[in-house]
Amino acid sequence: MPLSESEALVVKQLRAMAPDLEAQLCRFVKIDSHTDHHEGVNALGWEIEQELMKSGLHTSAFVTGCSGQYLMARTRHGKGNKLMLLGHLDTVFPPGSVELAVVPDPQDPLKLMGPGATDMKGGLVVMLAALRALQDVGLLAEKSLTVLLSADEETGSPAGRDLIAKEAEEHHLCLVLEAGSPDEKGGSRFVTSRKGMARFNLEIKGIAAHSGVAKEAGLSAAIEAAHKIIALEALNDASVGNSVNVGVCNSGSSVNTVPEFAHLKIDCRFSDPGRGETLVEKIRQICQTPVTSHKDTHAVPELGLEELCGHQPFVRSEAIGRMAQRIVDWGKDLGLTLEEETRGGASDGNIAAALGIPTVDGLGVVGAKIHSNQEWLYRQSIVDRSCLLALTMMRFYEL
Ligand SMILES: [Zn+2]
Repeated sequence: MPLSESEALVVKQLRAMAPDLEAQLCRFVKIDSHTDHHEGVNALGWEIEQELMKSGLHTSAFVTGCSGQYLMARTRHGKGNKLMLLGHLDTVFPPGSVELAVVPDPQDPLKLMGPGATDMKGGLVVMLAALRALQDVGLLAEKSLTVLLSADEETGSPAGRDLIAKEAEEHHLCLVLEAGSPDEKGGSRFVTSRKGMARFNLEIKGIAAHSGVAKEAGLSAAIEAAHKIIALEALNDASVGNSVNVGVCNSGSSVNTVPEFAHLKIDCRFSDPGRGETLVEKIRQICQTPVTSHKDTHAVPELGLEELCGHQPFVRSEAIGRMAQRIVDWGKDLGLTLEEETRGGASDGNIAAALGIPTVDGLGVVGAKIHSNQEWLYRQSIVDRSCLLALTMMRFYEL
């Protein structure tokens, strides 16, 4: 379908904004907004709040007590189809760990590199641009829109997941501004399914003893941990989309002491909700059942299992499939080649999708190597994805 006059106007306006959008991305990346650096998260939130107000939205910030502030914005008198845009302010880069700057990729001038630029400050720039362009042509004020930006998405949005769920339930469509990945033929992808995730901390307490003087009095927490790691790793089954990783394993205090403590951090992923429940139950059993014991006293290690914030899988429903096809078609009208992708990593989109809300993710900038110091995005994708989001919004409101 060719672009209507107003659609063409919005696209033209967004294309003219390209240098400003890159400059805005550079400013956002310079603000250190690691999840635990609450002042930085709030500082970025404040910048974005100013931009959202320029687009005529009224904003509110939510203090959670254990994260930076969540930011919400709405149109004042919206009618018709209700749309929610989801994003996050935080990044995974601890203060001082990387240089906070956006630089051209020395190997490829079409790419920009910067910590948090792709995941997902670029997505925030895309969102603000689309909103501004729609507002400028008078296409936003009467529409029903909620923007919700998490302050701790990189740890699973523990502080605001109830808020995200409550808001998502009030909307007909949820679009998520996480990054999409490039495809090999010059097109790009957006996300219509993601794995579910569960995380655990396991504390193991054995009995310390001098390894030379009284080795036999000890009960090694490290040996119990070793059994746990092998049993947990055996749960991996890629054929059904289950994965389990013991990503951190600490134990022992000195070379000549039987280790009294061990600490494991466990991450598991699953494609299917039912299989996920079974997998999580098996992990609990392994982690709560000691397998070693003291040979004389039969004392067993103490096991303390903590379950952290997880996500249900983001399953591609029929409604998600229909919306995805529309986005592919609408992308063609902009000259963009788009296809769907599945991702192993969870996002706040999982929260909305698990409630049955049609959710489409990966609509932010196009790039890869997120969470590493090689994180990059295609320059052109800032404008392309702004146009795609604006067009998707305009046509969704007409559905
Ligand atoms: Zn992200």
